[in-house]
Amino acid sequence: MSIPISRNTQLPPPLGRDAALFLDFDGTLVGLAPTPEAIEVPPALVALLTDLGDQLDGALAVVSGRQIDAIDRFLAPLRLPVAGEHGVQRRDARGSMQEQRPPDLVPILDIANELARVHEGLLVERKHAAIALHYRLAPQLEAVCRDAMSRAVDGRPQLELMHGKFVFEVKPAGINKGIAIDAFMREAPFVGRTPVFAGDDTTDESGFAVVQPRGGIAVKVGSGPSLALHRLESPLAVYEWLVRARDALASAPRRTKKKTAAPSRNPG
Ligand SMILES: [Mg+2]
Repeated sequence: MSIPISRNTQLPPPLGRDAALFLDFDGTLVGLAPTPEAIEVPPALVALLTDLGDQLDGALAVVSGRQIDAIDRFLAPLRLPVAGEHGVQRRDARGSMQEQRPPDLVPILDIANELARVHEGLLVERKHAAIALHYRLAPQLEAVCRDAMSRAVDGRPQLELMHGKFVFEVKPAGINKGIAIDAFMREAPFVGRTPVFAGDDTTDESGFAVVQPRGGIAVKVGSGPSLALHRLESPLAVYEWLVRARDALASAPRRTKKKTAAPSRNPG
């Protein structure tokens, strides 16, 4: 997706009681680390997300490129609705799981592994339905990784190459975070709410493209061009925004069920 250049620095508005909150994980809720396993979850984050989920009547989901198992592990004991692997897997608010059948990834895995064997600093991650090639420890290898992974998906229309921060990822075609958010928005308790999505990476742009036309709020985290009309500078700024939201919601009246319209008075 080509992203219009926007350097919008407008802070997001306070979160309303009617928000459906979607949050990317890496680079949004937690800072990036040299390897995916090395991230640190701020100790108060789990309690904050628990409170917010409660205040939004459960309308809070994580939308990540990671697998759902990994999100659960980092946020234990909290188990939120999650879209994992950009939406290949999705656990809804009732806890039921939907998962795409993985495509044949063996040829892709072989190419990625071979590349990691000959170049130091590359990390191959096998997911349920995707292969991620991380080059954060060897950023000079970006072009090498891009070439190899582009060739790997050539002639395989069922697969798609995605470029995130220091990662090339091969995943099933036609899957993205926007589609995952759209699926949540059709279900309780998200349906009828105002979608709010915060993310830091190019792979989050599809989510911004879904929430803004619905009157929702898109928040780009960090620098770089984005469709999002709002911006927060770092995971710490996201954390502070969410703390303010929790504190404001704690003193705001609870949402009431929609009243049915009063019958019109019949003059006859
Ligand atoms: Mg991210």
